Amino acid sequence: MIVSDLRSGVEQLGDMIAAASTIIPFTGAGISTECGIPDFRSPGGLWTRNRPIPFDEFVASRDARDEAWRRRFAMEPIFAAARPGRGHRALASLYKAGKIPAIVTQNIDNLHQLSGFAAEHVVELHGNTTYARCIGCGKSFDLGWVKHIFEATGGAPDCTACDRPVKTATISFGQAMPEDAMHRATELARHCDLFLAIGSSLVVWPAAGFPLLAKNCGARLVIINNEPTEQDDIADLVIRHDIGETLGPFVGN
Ligand code: NAD
Repeated sequence: MIVSDLRSGVEQLGDMIAAASTIIPFTGAGISTECGIPDFRSPGGLWTRNRPIPFDEFVASRDARDEAWRRRFAMEPIFAAARPGRGHRALASLYKAGKIPAIVTQNIDNLHQLSGFAAEHVVELHGNTTYARCIGCGKSFDLGWVKHIFEATGGAPDCTACDRPVKTATISFGQAMPEDAMHRATELARHCDLFLAIGSSLVVWPAAGFPLLAKNCGARLVIINNEPTEQDDIADLVIRHDIGETLGPFVGN
């Protein structure tokens, strides 16, 4: 059911939260736009400016790697300045209250951890852009180190342990999904009684399969997004409003 006015949407959401014992939020880029991080598909979103660099291109081409890192450094002031918004803080309040055991996110911005979720309770489907990893052996690197090498040599660094390329710890198009995160997200979606899909256009698969899975396993499904999604038809409640406005009332003290 799509609710047209925000107040009754918030009321119905409050009732559903009160009735639920295990809530799993599933978040997309829309929860972080009020924190200054653009999403991908809205006007002015990242894709209207840059074509994504697929994984095989990153691996095959030094120019592609240099370009990927140039873009990442260009975004650094935005990621570094971002603080959790009302949506993040509301979910952190429900987590502290024991209603949310863990959160599944498509986001790579680390804002759920900053809002108070323990890192082990944030299931990151697309990785995390606040640090780097070797694509061969998985060794982690600070972005500061990558930037230092980039500036000193004019190009993207290779791993100090195995010489393979170093990439932000994110999942690019064409890169295998992280098995452990996919497994954990599947279990969480299957065993909750309320699933909240927040700020996702629900077009990026396989991540977009989780709301559907939760619904098929008996959970009630709520979609909070300011534009229609392909799963609105199967949702128990669709709140087509701003996320900060919708979740603001659930921020605890
Ligand atoms: P998306 O860009 O496809 O969809 C975001 C949705 O949020 C859109 O439908 C948009 O209309 C809606 N939205 C934006 N601001 C909103 C607001 N304030 N209130 C309500 N709705 C709002 O994002 P996605 O579904 O997460 O998929 C894109 C992929 O891009 C993700 O998998 C993620 O890895 C990556 N990404 C992450 C970030 C981040 O970490 N913050 C930012 C951009 C892209």
